[in-house]
Amino acid sequence: MALQLFGVPVSRGVAVGRAVLLSSARLDVAHYFIEPGQEEAEVDRLRAARSAVRAELQTLQDELPADAPAELAAFIDVHKMLLDDPHIARETASWIRRRRYNAEWALSAQLDVIARSFDEMDDAYLRERKADVEQVVERLLRALRGTQGLPGAAQDGDELVLVAHDIAPADMMQFKQGVFHGFVTDVGGRTSHTAIVARSLDIPAVVGAREASRLIRHDDWVIVDGDNGLLIVDPSPAILDDYRVRKQESELSRQRLQRLRNTPARSLDGQTIELLANIELPEDCASALRAGAAGVGLFRTEYLFMKRGRDLPGEQEQFDAYRGVVQAMGGRPVTIRTIDIGADKPLDDEVDYRDGEFTHLNPALGLRAIRYSLSDPAMFRVQLRALLRAAAFGPLRILVPMLAHSREVHQTFAQLEMARAELRAAGIEPGQAEIGAMIEVPGAVLMLPLFLRYFDFVSIGTNDLVQYTLAIDRADESVADLYDPLHPAVLQLLAQTIAQCHAAQSWKGRAVHVSVCGEMAGDPQLTRLLLGLGLRSFSMHPAQLLSVKHEILRADCARLEPLARAVLAEYEPEEQARALAALGA
Ligand code: PEP
Ligand code: MG
Repeated sequence: MALQLFGVPVSRGVAVGRAVLLSSARLDVAHYFIEPGQEEAEVDRLRAARSAVRAELQTLQDELPADAPAELAAFIDVHKMLLDDPHIARETASWIRRRRYNAEWALSAQLDVIARSFDEMDDAYLRERKADVEQVVERLLRALRGTQGLPGAAQDGDELVLVAHDIAPADMMQFKQGVFHGFVTDVGGRTSHTAIVARSLDIPAVVGAREASRLIRHDDWVIVDGDNGLLIVDPSPAILDDYRVRKQESELSRQRLQRLRNTPARSLDGQTIELLANIELPEDCASALRAGAAGVGLFRTEYLFMKRGRDLPGEQEQFDAYRGVVQAMGGRPVTIRTIDIGADKPLDDEVDYRDGEFTHLNPALGLRAIRYSLSDPAMFRVQLRALLRAAAFGPLRILVPMLAHSREVHQTFAQLEMARAELRAAGIEPGQAEIGAMIEVPGAVLMLPLFLRYFDFVSIGTNDLVQYTLAIDRADESVADLYDPLHPAVLQLLAQTIAQCHAAQSWKGRAVHVSVCGEMAGDPQLTRLLLGLGLRSFSMHPAQLLSVKHEILRADCARLEPLARAVLAEYEPEEQARALAALGA
């Protein structure tokens, strides 16, 4: 009987593949496929690592002091035995030969299989031996470090679905090379940063599936229905066929959308809509351009800073990255956000270079984004100098996340002024950059008159705006059903922000450019509503751009405006749903 599990759908489409279970502790080992024909060489790497560990254990045993407790030598004996145990030696080699996993990946896959069978044992003594296996595997992984295998292209056998309890956003980035065809995690919500990275990979994903990593086993067949948040484990052949057909259909409709790539994003009544890309790394510019993006609306620079331990990128490295994006986008506007570290995006799980600052009770309400930058002005100015230098190479806008206080606004501009002065003192003329504010906190919406006075543009971060308006942790699956971008309070704040940016024309002499760069902008079901609220600039993952364009081409903005106002007037879900239906959403 197939097992069905439900979670939060975060990235559309259907994946059908074999489960690969990853314990989060071992996510930092390299995962790649080896070249066909390299299997035996990779098994030799594993064999060499086993010999090295055996020698290491022997030395340990030889050097035990004479008065060491006898248990210590016995423990080392157990570890030596485990090293040759067929469950470790033979089965790991079998992952390499059957699936072409690199040795590290094969080891962690096999460790998960072993750990599970230990967990199911009744005998407490035997259950505890799991720790011994883990220690032996850790030693083997250490021995493998430094001896590189040969990465190859994805294997042509079964497609693979990654199943994990949780995947940190930075770990998710290493899967950009396309090893997996689907993602499943136990935790997370629709706009958790892990979900956002999964969406940027354009791979079907379900998060918040609670027990998934406990119930799914290595190599199980899994269907990931990313449209409906459904997982089917060990499906019957009939269901499998049904989903294979659906998968083909969804791929076909994506291919059809490709035809819109060079079509201007213009509504039926002739309004030109700006469609921008959200990116995480400079390399993502390629997919932005492929999707026909008019520029970059959000470059989340924090990903350049993650997994670096204490070795954070300096001014030159950052400058190279920002200039690279500006140049790759060939004269199109590029919006680069200063780092948004904190909350569910720590710098490094293991090394926090500012020791322990993320251990706050509620990091989403703690030191993150602009608060983090302003708490370390020297580090902030390194980023600002790099940005101002890159601005000399093309149209660059600097975006500041999560502002709420006038003090933060003034301190940000003061830091910008200092960064310009520092560059000039070094004989470098800073480029011209527009400065923008992210609107992510309800308090910022109510402070808009002040923000609009100082900033050149505004970008609405709806992911956080929903989180902070409704007091819902966006990464917490237990309240994921309350995370509602259509909540009337959220829509009021959105409408007010857009309207006030347009109205700046009357007192500032020009409207303030406003876009939405949260996940709402990339949801084609919300495109008509946002157009009706007056939004003319949308920033989203490149993978979503053509679906949104498809909606725009069929929309009449003038006709949508009164219909969107009618949605704003409704507070009860059923009445709101009727108003949305009239809008065609
Ligand atoms: C947002 O909050 O909507 C946003 C775009 O920023 P992030 O998702 O990186 O917090
Ligand atoms: Mg945000």
